Amino acid sequence: MTQVELTELTRTELEAALADGGLDRYRAGQIFKWVYRRGVTDFGAMTDLPAGARSALAERFLISTPAISRRDVSEDGTEKFLLALQDGRHVEAVFIPRTPHNTFCVSTQVGCAMGCAFCLTATMGLVRNLTAGEIVGQVCVLAGALDLRDSRFNIVFMGMGEPLHNYDATMGAVRILADEHGFAVHPRRITLSTVGLVPAIERLAGEDVMPHLAISLHAPTDEQRAALVPVNRKYPIAAIIEACRRFPPARRGRITFEYVLLAGVNDSPVDARRLAALVQGLHVKVNLIPLNPAAGIPFERPSDERIDAFGRVLSERGVTVMVRKSRGRDIRAACGQLAVEGLKKSAAQKLADTFG
Ligand code: SAH
Repeated sequence: MTQVELTELTRTELEAALADGGLDRYRAGQIFKWVYRRGVTDFGAMTDLPAGARSALAERFLISTPAISRRDVSEDGTEKFLLALQDGRHVEAVFIPRTPHNTFCVSTQVGCAMGCAFCLTATMGLVRNLTAGEIVGQVCVLAGALDLRDSRFNIVFMGMGEPLHNYDATMGAVRILADEHGFAVHPRRITLSTVGLVPAIERLAGEDVMPHLAISLHAPTDEQRAALVPVNRKYPIAAIIEACRRFPPARRGRITFEYVLLAGVNDSPVDARRLAALVQGLHVKVNLIPLNPAAGIPFERPSDERIDAFGRVLSERGVTVMVRKSRGRDIRAACGQLAVEGLKKSAAQKLADTFG
């Protein structure tokens, strides 16, 4: 019998699998508690389960989590984890302390297919989707390594990948992370950041578990946006705004619009006025993200004055705006700086070190 990876299952799915194997459904909650709250992956140690159930579970299920290949600590306390998956592929996940809450930034894909012009992950292309268990597994590993299992934390799907391009696994992960018997992260503390895949946003609007939605807008006109975010040709700005308007307001709270500021490209006062007009009447907040530069990314970060001026135009027009502080830049853990083809480089680096 092939074993099932337990962390792939929502509690409802686990209940069904248990019932299939002649075990009581309610054991699923106990198992969730062991795996997610206590970090126990050995069924033999789950002492509130009957001995017979423990061995039956060990036969049917596997519990594996990604392995830490590398851990970098930034001078600002941000930590970047390079995690190895079962097939040897790698993803990065980032711990951002005190934002004011502790936040885990996790990946939803190995690489990304969206091709945004200023993002380093885009240069990898899409290698593969992560499974729900691999997405949740990143939180398990980071929470364990940082001893934060029992604390309150936020989760942002802003690592590598486009979450709505891997819809089912992403939503499966949201359900598992929000489960009251597991990590019990309130769905509003989980932010799903998307490039703006309109049909998927519409699907999300009908979910019973609803994460906080952030949309990467980055430009106020289709012409500017299409040059930065290729998928804008398929889903232009008006379609995204329309999808936001249709999103059920009572359940989702405020939508965040992310806007990467690129010097001389989308950072002028005219751009700011257009952006303000675009979001007029929508219950949103704008998150300005000054570009985090990287080698091979053909853009520059605007000056602080320019960033401030842009923000001022928005707030004068009644738009809630904040500038995202970039964290962990010294370890390449900031937005848009995650890419793992660097592994090859570090092998080369080792060689260079040997000869150096
Ligand atoms: N695919 C998702 C998640 C991407 S990462 C999305 O598009 O929303 C989260 C945010 O970081 C996105 O808004 C993304 O556009 C932004 N980002 C990407 N590269 C960046 C860079 N070099 N500097 C600053 N922000 C960047």
